[in-house]
Amino acid sequence: MTPTVRELLADARPTWSFEFFPPKTPDGATQLWTALRELERLRPSFVSVTYGAGGSTREGTVSVTERIATETTMTPLAHLTAVDHSVAELRHVVSRLAAAGVRNLLALRGDPPGADPQAEWVTHPEGLAYAAELVELIRSMGDFSVGVAAFPEGHPRSPDPDSDVEMFVGKCRAGADFAITQMFFRAEDYLRLRDRVAARGCDVPLIAGVMPVTNARQITRIVQLSGQAFPEDLAARFAELDGDRPEDRAAVRAYGVEVATELCRTLLDEGVPGIHFITMNRSTATREVYANLAAVGATH
Ligand code: FAD
Repeated sequence: MTPTVRELLADARPTWSFEFFPPKTPDGATQLWTALRELERLRPSFVSVTYGAGGSTREGTVSVTERIATETTMTPLAHLTAVDHSVAELRHVVSRLAAAGVRNLLALRGDPPGADPQAEWVTHPEGLAYAAELVELIRSMGDFSVGVAAFPEGHPRSPDPDSDVEMFVGKCRAGADFAITQMFFRAEDYLRLRDRVAARGCDVPLIAGVMPVTNARQITRIVQLSGQAFPEDLAARFAELDGDRPEDRAAVRAYGVEVATELCRTLLDEGVPGIHFITMNRSTATREVYANLAAVGATH
């Protein structure tokens, strides 16, 4: 049987994990499976698959996660959101994943469907209002290892940092074993959150979400989707390097890998329990960061 994330985190060494999203096209599926197979060689602790906003991408999440569980050597973690789902539908998804041997779930509320992630949240009439309720639901269905989302800069909907941490600790107490953070680019933001959570007596491990920036235009999208700020000094340097020539694009990529490597090194020095790379279904940048860290003996 594959290990749970809870068991993997019990080891003193940090976990290494990679995040993918379900493909929308046959070409996207080829790209995903190429990246998965290339990253499998690094023997990640686990790999995660995000949950789409609706329809076929949701089916894709379940089928990709099932395939990872049955056809690869890797341990899958399935993301699941409460968006537009009744409790009965959520139970059905969890049961399908369990039947394929998936033991790890990331319980999320999700964002309202549509282009604007900051639009007003509407609870399904027979559904759940907060991630904490999804944690409880999954827990009630079996021996799963359940994770939740954490936000080093605070969740964009939270009125202030104190209530944000309060709500976060509440969902951990609902039964979460671990949390994975939103991507961030300043180690201080992560460390501040870790201290605030610990000050409330909560010891749930906070796995750090890291995304190597590979092109300067990604930054606008990152800000839009995550609702988080992007450090101005880094944005300015990416803008300075950016250009239409192949060597400009290569310079942006190299800087993105350097920034992510430095962030990981600082986090590892600070005793982070795990690093979770957001791969965007490509393996190269993640492999480069990993190789830089392996070169200084920082990986497993
Ligand atoms: P919650 O924990 O429910 O929090 C939502 C808001 O409500 C917060 O402001 C919180 O402070 C507040 N709140 C919580 N409990 C209460 C309460 N009892 N009373 C009042 N206020 C409360 N989205 C996807 O669609 N698919 C994915 O696969 C996906 N994967 C993600 C992975 C990670 C690692 C992260 C960090 C985010 C991911 N997201 C994904 C985005 C996530 O769904 C959104 O950020 C969403 O807005 C918040 O989800 P949550 O689970 O943190 O919600």
